[in-house]
Amino acid sequence: MASMGDPMQGLMMDMPLLITSLIQFAAQYHGDTEIVSRSVEGPVRRTTYRQVFARAQKLANALTAYGIQSGDRVATLAWNTDLHLELYYAVSGIEAVCHTVNLRLSDEELIYIINHAEDRILFFDLDLAETVDRIASKLTTVERYVVMTGPDHMPARIPDNTVAYETLIGEESERFAWPTFNENTAASMCYTSGTTGKPKGVLYSHRSTVLHAMASCYASTLDLRTHDVVLPVVPMFHVNAWGVPYSAPIAGAPLVMPGPKLDGENLFNLMDAEGVSIALGVPTVWMGLLDHMDAVGRKPNGFDRVIIGGAAASETIIDRFELDHGVKVHHAWGMTEMSPIGVVNTLKPKFSDMSRKEQMPIKVKQGRIVYGVDMRIVDDAGSVIPNDGQSSGRLHVRGPWIVDTYFKADESALTEDGWFDTGDIATLDADGYMHITDRAKDIIKSGGEWISSVGLENAAIAHPAIKLAAVIGIPHPKWQERPLLICVAEEGEELPSLAQVKTFLSDQVPKLWLPDALEWVDELPLGATGKILKADLRSSYAGYTLPEK
Ligand code: AMP
Repeated sequence: MASMGDPMQGLMMDMPLLITSLIQFAAQYHGDTEIVSRSVEGPVRRTTYRQVFARAQKLANALTAYGIQSGDRVATLAWNTDLHLELYYAVSGIEAVCHTVNLRLSDEELIYIINHAEDRILFFDLDLAETVDRIASKLTTVERYVVMTGPDHMPARIPDNTVAYETLIGEESERFAWPTFNENTAASMCYTSGTTGKPKGVLYSHRSTVLHAMASCYASTLDLRTHDVVLPVVPMFHVNAWGVPYSAPIAGAPLVMPGPKLDGENLFNLMDAEGVSIALGVPTVWMGLLDHMDAVGRKPNGFDRVIIGGAAASETIIDRFELDHGVKVHHAWGMTEMSPIGVVNTLKPKFSDMSRKEQMPIKVKQGRIVYGVDMRIVDDAGSVIPNDGQSSGRLHVRGPWIVDTYFKADESALTEDGWFDTGDIATLDADGYMHITDRAKDIIKSGGEWISSVGLENAAIAHPAIKLAAVIGIPHPKWQERPLLICVAEEGEELPSLAQVKTFLSDQVPKLWLPDALEWVDELPLGATGKILKADLRSSYAGYTLPEK
């Protein structure tokens, strides 16, 4: 008979999962492993996990001496560099919150986010000095500014109370007594891109960050290893560079930090010189790199795997990497609210004997569910629908590295039964492969059917004359909405007509999806995280008249 008392407790150590343990481990056992950064000043800077940890201790001493206390927010407006890494570890390690602010935002958005977070100190990179100086008078809680350079590089325009990073930490000790505290303590914060209303703060904990970092290293996730050389092109201000600054130390893998230069040629040269084996970023960045790889006729030395996430990876981009250059592609999906990783695409062994053509519908899916994340697909009425890989609906998630409540929100962000609605429309199959068909707000509703704007965009960019594509719904008296295809042309190609594009698309998508109109533009509006701003396109094309059929 079951006993009625308290359940029997395990007799194992109860040690909190704290972020400091990650860098401590790397500094102790991979101390000479390199961290290479393209500095904002220009030259490439080389350091090691041991040195980063030593300097993080100097910074922890400086922040504590200044009076930063548990729960205080310390903001960064910075590129991916070793200094930013030192900040990640020093700030969280003293029980404060490292708030990474997206430096591509407008002045108004920066002011809103920094004031909302109530940041006390703002660390910023040299090239952002003018921005900071411009907005400083509107930042109501920032008491002190730190420019991330040495005293010799002080920019001309800076707020009065600004000190150089190297001056701040210069005299401090390389020893710091890291506190131990509850693993649910807040560690870092990132605001969502705010495509639907005001940006919202996601407050990661030590526990969520460490669990996410451990799961990132699984073979079926990022498969990070000691012999990898890891390049996070995804910025440290966008969901903590997908957690790489926390997962690479677990693997003891060298890190290459690209600083501010993210164009194809600069990325290629850095990767080639450092032998980067795995790189992570959004499709737009990879288009630039691929163009450069095509121009020089080879891949960077040692380049083995690319993780593509943040927006859909098309078949074209997968083929360009894999077939033209022999670089393996893993598609991945996640979101700010999920730390961010939810799925990563690796093929199960049962698919390995298939032809490439048969594998492609699996490879273009966002990926296979990672242990630690639970998913379900729900229809408009809120009922859970089968994991058959066919039925699409709203994607709900839950797990220990997924948001519960936004910063300063009055209520939980979850459904009544404890799931987070991602706002994505997806299918899920019995093998755990998830496929995003659209954002809920971008899907085009036509004659009672759904047209996936993402599906149509991916099909369109396979056309040789189409470099970039975006599809939006235009109101239609009979069909409710019909798709308008907006394209950027590939240089040097003759522009096809709407009829020619429709013929091209007709073997790839259902007839109902074929666009009613085609517009050519010089560029598409991109948001601060590299995604196409559909909301901007919808307002630019408000009142657009579709041609008569
Ligand atoms: P963010 O919080 O800015 O990272 O945005 C998260 C959103 O980006 C997701 O909810 C998706 O709509 C989109 N997203 C991320 N990765 C992918 C992907 N691989 N394919 C399609 N959409 C993606």
